[in-house]
Amino acid sequence: MDFSGKSVLVTGAGKGIGRATAKMLAARGAEVIALTRSQDDLDSLAAEIGCRTIAVDLADAEATRAAALAAMPADYLVNNAGTTALDSFLDLTPETFDLLQAVNVRAPMIMAQEYARSALARGAKGAIVNVSSVSSFIGFADHAAYCASKGALDGLSRVMANELGRLGIRVNCINPTVTLTPMAVKAWSDEEKAGRMLSRIPLGHFASPEEVASVILFLLSDEASMLNGLAMPVDGGFMIN
Ligand code: NDP
Repeated sequence: MDFSGKSVLVTGAGKGIGRATAKMLAARGAEVIALTRSQDDLDSLAAEIGCRTIAVDLADAEATRAAALAAMPADYLVNNAGTTALDSFLDLTPETFDLLQAVNVRAPMIMAQEYARSALARGAKGAIVNVSSVSSFIGFADHAAYCASKGALDGLSRVMANELGRLGIRVNCINPTVTLTPMAVKAWSDEEKAGRMLSRIPLGHFASPEEVASVILFLLSDEASMLNGLAMPVDGGFMIN
C-alpha cells in the first residue's frame, strides 16, 4: 500500500496504536497530520517522521472542532484517540461516563464532520477508520463507560457509512482485542484477568500496535474500495469463542 502524495489525519498519534499507525503511514509515503493531547509526544513523533502536529484535548468539543478545521484538508481520517476508566457499574459516575463519551464518540463525530465537509467542498472522495474495540460486543466487567462508548462508536460509524458512503467517503470501524499499548497496561495488568482473555484468543497472543495499524492502512487504501460500514474484529479469533 502506497500513500505517497496522500495526507492522513491520525488522532491519538502520540502513543500506542495511533503512533504505530502514523509511523507506518509515513513509511509508506503519507504526509501525516498527528493530533493528540501531549505536546511531548507530538515533538518526539515529529522528530521521528517529520509530521505536522496539533495538540488538543478531545474532551473539549469546541477545541476539537477548531483542531479539526486547522487540520484540513486531509485525504483520509483515522479516529484513533480513546480513553478508558475502570469502575464497577455501581460505582460509575456521570462525570466518568460523560468523559468517555466525549473523547471516544463525540470527538470522532466532530472530526468526521469537518473532514467530510472539507472533502465534499473539494469534490474529493475519501475514507475514515474509527478505532473501536471488541468491547463494543462484549460486556467486560468494570468497563461499563468504555463498552457503552465503543458500542456508540460502532452505531455512529454505521450511520456515517450509510450517509457518507453515498457521497464517496467510506467509513469502517476496527474492533481490536487487547493490544500491547499504554492503555492495555492500565486495563489488563491483572495477570489472572489477562490470562482468561488470552485463553479465548485462538492465535494465542495479544495484538501488537503494528498488527492493528496494518489493518487501518488497508481499510484506508483503495485495496478496500468495496468495504464500507464494517465493524471488523482484529482479535486473533477472540470473537468466535
Ligand atoms: P493509548 O492510551 O496507548 O494511546 C491513546 C492516545 O490517544 C494517546 O496519544 C493519548 O494522548 C490520546 N488521547 C487520549 N485521550 C485524549 C484526549 N482527551 N485528547 C487528545 N488525545 C487523547 O491507547 P491505545 O493506543 O491502546 O488506544 C488507541 C485506540 O484503540 C483507543 O480508541 C482505544 O480505545 C482502542 N483500543 C485499544 C485497545 C488496547 O488494548 N490497547 C483494544 C481495543 C481498542 P495522552 O497520552 O496524552 O492522553
